[in-house]
Parts: sequence; structure tokens; C-alpha cells
Amino acid sequence: PQIIFSGIQPTGTLHLGNYFGAVDKWKQLIHSSNGDVILSIVDLHAITLPQDPKSLHSSILHMTASLVACGIDPEKCILFQQSKVPQHALLGWVLGTLTTMTRLYHFPQYKEKSATLKDIPLGLFTYPVLQAADILLYKSTQVPIGGDQVQHLHLAQHLVHTFNNKYGVTFPIPEYIVEVESGAARIRSLREPEKKMSKSHADPKSRIEITDTPEQILSKIKKAVTDFTSSVQYDAENRPGVSNLIDMHALAVGRTRNEIVDEAVGLDTGKYKLRVADAVIEKLSPIRSEFTRLLDSKDYLVNVLADGSAKAETIASRTWNEVKMRIGLESAQ
Ligand code: ATP
Ligand code: MG
Repeated sequence: PQIIFSGIQPTGTLHLGNYFGAVDKWKQLIHSSNGDVILSIVDLHAITLPQDPKSLHSSILHMTASLVACGIDPEKCILFQQSKVPQHALLGWVLGTLTTMTRLYHFPQYKEKSATLKDIPLGLFTYPVLQAADILLYKSTQVPIGGDQVQHLHLAQHLVHTFNNKYGVTFPIPEYIVEVESGAARIRSLREPEKKMSKSHADPKSRIEITDTPEQILSKIKKAVTDFTSSVQYDAENRPGVSNLIDMHALAVGRTRNEIVDEAVGLDTGKYKLRVADAVIEKLSPIRSEFTRLLDSKDYLVNVLADGSAKAETIASRTWNEVKMRIGLESAQ
């Protein structure tokens, strides 16, 4: 059977990049897969950069509400909180003994996030190892992710090979699923279109959050950085700003880039932005109202995570017991 695993950090509010790059795909897989879809709110990953203890737990509930509001049905998948399943950290430790520091140095996420830090936390460096543990713990076969995570998936695949060779075949090779064609794999920052849109970036104007009001959406899109050419044409390399608007628009209305560009003939980017804003506002308005409703039901959200985490731990402890026998921490019968 397929086991589909993915995760998201409770580091801020879900934005359009997360939505189109990951969450939308999760929804499709929940409907179509013939196995389990396991989705983790990865709080142990979130603390690889400083988090305020006063707000971290509410961010976790906030992320839970966002995902459910986006249409992730906790009855039809396993939606859980990573730190409630201690085997993630245990397997992460084991996998850390099977890779090298050299291999970890070159990951783009690490480079980007450590670039402005004077002292780099060890956890930020070993992040992809914990991520591999997340995936392996459920013997996952497919991992839907945004394009920024592909290198991390290569490490997970490498660790499966290494573990299986050394200790006997235990894990399947996880395949990743990335929506490259539609542009969803990398929604760009509205302020610096050469970078990806990120939850944790300091400037909220760089992203559209699923909880933004129509006024906020309009204002952010109006201010989105484009270039000095006024026509609406798709050219991701030379015109990343306007191309990003086309991608967001196409994804919001469920049509192709070409259709979108054809209909925009004669519009300048200023006028076109208003059209993009309308489409995004329409897409997000039901999500926003559902989110607001859910946020009032704290008990419900706490229960969703408790139930999901209990289900996840059943699988995780089975794998961890097997791992302990494979590597000789426990006797093998
Ligand atoms: P942070 O800034 O804290 O790293 P993030 O926005 O990068 O937050 P993550 O929680 O790291 O979000 O990633 C969750 C999922 O969203 C991953 O599958 C990731 O690949 C995907 N994703 C993140 N940013 C984008 C983006 N701009 N476009 C498409 N997918 C994205
Ligand atoms: Mg990220």
C-alpha cells in the first residue's frame, strides 16, 4: 500500500506557497490514495530557530485550524503533532550516525537560514536528518513537497540505502512528488521574487497568508515587485515577479498559464494585478471564514491532535522496535 507522509512547521501562518505547493496536493492524495496519508505539524523542526514559548503552542493549534480550514479532513488522514511521538527524535539520532557532516553542509535551506546568524544551532544543521526520520518512521512510499525540499528528500533516500545495506532491508525508498509544471513547486516572495515565499520571513508583505483580509490581499498584490516591462507575459527566469503573479492566478482559478496570459492581452501589469487580487480573494474567502470559526473551538483542535498523534505513535513505535532489533539494541527474536 501507499504510505504518504508530509509535514509543515508551525512557524507562522499558511501562505499561498504552502497551499499550492503542499496542502492542495495533500487534499488530492487524501481523496485518491489507497493507503494512509500522514501529515505532521513538525514542531521539533520549528524550534531549530528561536520560538517564543509563550506563543508556540498557540501556533501549533493555529496551524491545525489552518489545515482543517483548507480542507484537510482529520477523519480521513492522520494529522498529528511531531513532538507527541518521541520516536521521531530517537530515529533521528540513529540516522545521524549514518550520514556525514560534509553531506549536510550543502543544503540550500541550511545555507539560506544560517546566512544571517552568528552562531548556528546544531539543530538547524541536522534538520534534514530529523526530516528523514519523520519519513522513514512510517515507512513512507511517497512524500509530496514543494521544490525547496527536494535535496532533503535525496538525503532521506540515501539514508534508506545506507540503513538497508548495513542492517537489512527495513525501509522502502521514499519517492517525492513535486508539482513543477503548474509553478506550484515554488511560489515566490512578493517583495524579492528571486526568493521563495516563506512563513518565517520577517516581512509579512512578502507573502499572502490564507487568513489575510481582502484589503490586505489587494494591498500586498498591488505592491508586489514586478519589473519595468508593462506587458503580462510568462518568463520565470527574466521576469520572476510577473510570472509569479500569473502562477498564483492560474492556480487560484484552476486554469493554465497560457489561458491566463491570453486573457490578459492588452492589460498592463498594474491593471493585471487587480485581476490577480480578485482571484486570490475569491479563493481564500471561504478558507478564511472557516479558519475563524475553527479557531474558536480550541478543544476540538486539541482533540484532533491528540487522536492523530495516538494513531501516529502506534505505527512509529512498531518501526522503532524493529529498528532497535536491526541495529542490535534489542535481541532479535
Ligand atoms: P519556514 O519559513 O518556517 O521554513 P515555509 O514557508 O518554508 O516556512 P515549511 O513549513 O518549511 O514552510 O514547508 C511546508 C511545505 O510547504 C513544504 O512542503 C515546502 O516545500 C512547501 N513550501 C514552502 N514554501 C513554498 C513555496 N514558496 N512554494 C511552494 N511550496 C512551498
Ligand atoms: Mg521552509
